[in-house]
Amino acid sequence: MAETAKCDVLIIGAGVMGCSCALRLLQKGLRVTLLERAVPGAESSAAAAGILGAQSEVAQAGPFLELCLASRALYRSFAQEITQISGVDVGYEDSGVLEVVTEPGEGRIAVSRAEWMMERGLRVEILDRSDARALEPALAEHILGANYYPDDHQVDPDKLGRGLTAAVASLGGSFLSGRTVTGLLSQGEHVSGVATAEGPLYAGAVVMAAGAWTTRLASLPSLRTTIKPMAGQIVQVESRPAFFRHVVYGYKGYIVPRRDGRVLLGSTLEDRGFDKAVTAEGLHRITGMGMSLVPGLAHCRFVTAWSGLRPATADGLPMLGGGPLTGLYFASGHYRNGILLAPVTAEVITDLVVDGHTRHSVAAFSPAG
Ligand SMILES: Cc1cc2nc3c(=O)[nH]c(=O)nc-3n(C[C@H](O)[C@H](O)[C@H](O)COP(=O)(O)OP(=O)(O)OC[C@H]3O[C@@H](n4cnc5c(N)ncnc54)[C@H](O)[C@@H]3O)c2cc1C
Repeated sequence: MAETAKCDVLIIGAGVMGCSCALRLLQKGLRVTLLERAVPGAESSAAAAGILGAQSEVAQAGPFLELCLASRALYRSFAQEITQISGVDVGYEDSGVLEVVTEPGEGRIAVSRAEWMMERGLRVEILDRSDARALEPALAEHILGANYYPDDHQVDPDKLGRGLTAAVASLGGSFLSGRTVTGLLSQGEHVSGVATAEGPLYAGAVVMAAGAWTTRLASLPSLRTTIKPMAGQIVQVESRPAFFRHVVYGYKGYIVPRRDGRVLLGSTLEDRGFDKAVTAEGLHRITGMGMSLVPGLAHCRFVTAWSGLRPATADGLPMLGGGPLTGLYFASGHYRNGILLAPVTAEVITDLVVDGHTRHSVAAFSPAG
């Protein structure tokens, strides 16, 4: 029997994107239902390292950089708000990121990156070996130098997902967990709801936030790009107490120290479909990279390892905004930066659903084909 959703907005997927959008839409007084195939927040969003790398992760100036900077600027208050509503500390830390150089070729790239960032007015310090090791004594002796990004920080994605889920529930958001959406429903040029194995659900607005699975749904209109999974493995070790503080971002991987002594080492970039296996080769590469940049990691206790599926678009840009059907919105395809981009994505989607326009420049990310 057909079910009429008692809501204004249906959100497909309850990862960091779906939950962040739900939070902001609920705060505008809309009734929101999240449809989640499995466990809210437990896919790519829980697998992430949590680097808020608006500078360390971005290759050039342009609309994507601006989106990342806008989201980074929102983060501190976003994290505080989630904690206030949910009672969950989401692990936001002002740790700064050191982009470490180990070869002369990397040094030239790092200097040219620093130059365009300074032209854009961003804070970056070019450090030689001794300055870099003075700032972060845990760094290996063989490093040549580093770019220091004092405004790139970190959050704990697992705690963020838990905090967001609790915040959405406490504001009255409804979770239908174990509910797989199979396709979109539309009437002419308007979205009318979604199809599920248990029957259709209807609402005036639908937000696509199904991560790496987004463009696998049936009956999608013509889109700008497709999304596929790009697997990444992470190794967690720990030292008590913590012995270094800065995120170390190398050209072959990164190391993220949490204040409580946990350390995350990542990651691989693997194009192997929806396979989330942790492999011996992945562990070997990641731990080797980590110990070469921070030798003290060799003495840390191994805790666990996991992998997740980044939602990667074919053209490298997120699918963010409304269209091609009226009432249809995309908050998907954020690839390596979905944790960073959650606050701005939620703001954009809420602006568009509520007001029909947003102060952010999102034309480059339009979902329409
Ligand atoms: C190893 C790794 C490290 C990363 N590190 C960082 C980092 O340091 N910084 C950063 O900013 N980003 C990082 N990312 C990227 C970030 O994790 C993702 O961009 C982000 O989590 C994507 O969020 P999402 O909500 O779109 O997807 P997901 O978290 O995957 O959520 C999508 C949800 O949709 C559900 N779903 C799918 N299909 C359906 C359906 N048909 N019906 C109902 N529900 C459905 C899924 O079960 C899932 O819960 C990393 C990712 C990985 C894998």
